[in-house]
Amino acid sequence: MLLEIAIGDAYGAGFEFCGREKIMRSNTLESYVPHELGIQAGCYTDDTQMSIAVAEVLLANSDYSSDAFADAYVRCYKRDQRQGYAKGLQGLLDLCVNGADLRQRISPESRRNGAAMRSVPLGLIADKNVLAQAASEQAMVTHNTAEGILSSHVVALMSHALLYDKAKLVELPDFILEITGFILRGDWAAEVECDALQTLHAVNTALQANRCMSTLLLDCVNFGGDVDSVAAIAMGLASLTPEYVVDIPASLVNGLEAGKFGSSYLRKLDVALAGRYPVLSAHLVRQS
Ligand SMILES: [Mg+2]
Repeated sequence: MLLEIAIGDAYGAGFEFCGREKIMRSNTLESYVPHELGIQAGCYTDDTQMSIAVAEVLLANSDYSSDAFADAYVRCYKRDQRQGYAKGLQGLLDLCVNGADLRQRISPESRRNGAAMRSVPLGLIADKNVLAQAASEQAMVTHNTAEGILSSHVVALMSHALLYDKAKLVELPDFILEITGFILRGDWAAEVECDALQTLHAVNTALQANRCMSTLLLDCVNFGGDVDSVAAIAMGLASLTPEYVVDIPASLVNGLEAGKFGSSYLRKLDVALAGRYPVLSAHLVRQS
C-alpha cells in the first residue's frame, strides 16, 4: 500500500504541473524524472509523507483525533523535511514544533486535495463509522471544508471496500454514491487542478480504465496537472485489488529513494500495518 503510493507519488512528482511536451517526451515509465522545482528523480513528496503519518497514527493506538493526526503530520515532516508541500503549509510546518502549534497557526479552509491524498491507509479501519470519523478528524486539520472532508471519506471508503468487501472496481462508484451521495465520474479528461473533487474524478477515471499498474501510472500522468496526488491515490488503491496486475517496471521499483524513510522503511511500515490489520496481508504478497 505505502510502497505503491510512494511509487505513484515519486513518478508523478516529476510531472506535476509541467508542460505537455515533458509528458509527451518522458512519460514512458523508463525512469523517474526530476522536477524543475528541485524534487530529485525517485523522491516522493507530501502525499506519501502524510500517508505515512496517517499510517503511524493507525499503528499507534485508537486515537484518531485531529490532534493525533496533527502531531503525526508535524513529526513526520520534522524528522524528514522534504519538497513537494504547498508553500503555505510547508512554511507553517517549518515554524511549528508540534500538532497543537500547527492547529493554532493554520487556517484550515482549503478545498484542495491535501486531505484526499493521504487517505488510502484509512481504509484499514474496519468499522465504517469509525472510518468516517477518522477521515473527518484528519481532514479538518488542514481542510476543514465540506469538499476536503468528503474527499478524504471517499478515498478511505474506496480503500475499505477493496480491502474488506473485496469489491470489484466497477462497483466502487455505486458504493460511494450509496454511502456519501457523491457521484464519482469515470470520464475525467482535463488537466487536474489541486482541487479535491477533480482529483477524485481523475483517480476513479484512471482506476476504472486500466487493470495494470504500468498503464495506470501512464494514464495518471497523462491528465497533466496535480498528477503526483492522482497517481499516489490511484496506485495505493490499485495495490488493494487482485484485479490489478502488479507490473511496475523494475526501474521504478528499484529507483525509488533509499535512505532512512525510503523504500525499505515503506516496506517495513506496510508489514507492520498488515500485522495490525491482517486484511492487508494478501496484498503485500503481491508486492514482492
Ligand atoms: Mg505531492
